[in-house]
Amino acid sequence: MLEIQNISKSFGGVMALHDVSFRVEEGSFVGLIGPNGSGKTTMFNVISGALKPTRGAVNYEGQTISGLNPNVICHAGIARTFQIPQPIKSLTVAENVMLGVLFGRGGKHKFHQERIKKDAIKMLDFVGLGLDPDSYPEKMTAGDLRKLEMARALATQPKVLLADEVLSGLNKDELKDASAILTKARAELGVTIIWVEHIMHVLMKLVERVIVLNHGLLIADGDPDTVSSDKQVVEAYLGA
Ligand code: ADP
Repeated sequence: MLEIQNISKSFGGVMALHDVSFRVEEGSFVGLIGPNGSGKTTMFNVISGALKPTRGAVNYEGQTISGLNPNVICHAGIARTFQIPQPIKSLTVAENVMLGVLFGRGGKHKFHQERIKKDAIKMLDFVGLGLDPDSYPEKMTAGDLRKLEMARALATQPKVLLADEVLSGLNKDELKDASAILTKARAELGVTIIWVEHIMHVLMKLVERVIVLNHGLLIADGDPDTVSSDKQVVEAYLGA
């Protein structure tokens, strides 16, 4: 479904990604981890089109997508959630999710406002956000903000979801809800998920494969048990 082919990205003298290659099969649930500054965000930016790679290519369903604009990539079925959810305050909860519908694969219904709203409300139900869809996103809890952000991304009907630290800033219950949304998106919507997360014990229990970056290099790629006992991975996290 997705092929990361010899991707390098440099910012001036900083090599944020160095010749990274991996493939992600359709329907899989993959964790992308690594210490701070290892290149995870840069990888998401390259896949989603926010950054162009210095070298290499991103192929999606057999087509090269690196170099395309983010909105084209989103429309083709690759969505992203952001670490810090920033809903548009002047739009209602439902309207924020309607933006996802419009920019995503469902955008073909864009002249039917009622239809778009129906799709948005369906997604708010899917993530379990119990707020009035016509209310404004003010004074929302971190957990509700996260659900809204996930509803917006899933409303694009993605084939691939790039989930960026969806557990960050959440309490124990909210954390359970957010990770359950990912599991459910994969099981019920068939979404392929790549998940960047710092809260490792939750990620390790849910994903079937973990890719580890360190200083822009891919240092491990395998099932959670094997990767968590990998010497290079342990050293990377201990700062050795
Ligand atoms: P992570 O998400 O794993 O914490 P990043 O992808 O954010 O890592 O960063 C990888 C490296 O690239 C870091 O050294 C970071 O300082 C550098 N970097 C990231 N974005 C930029 C940028 N826009 N300009 C310059 N350096 C950057």
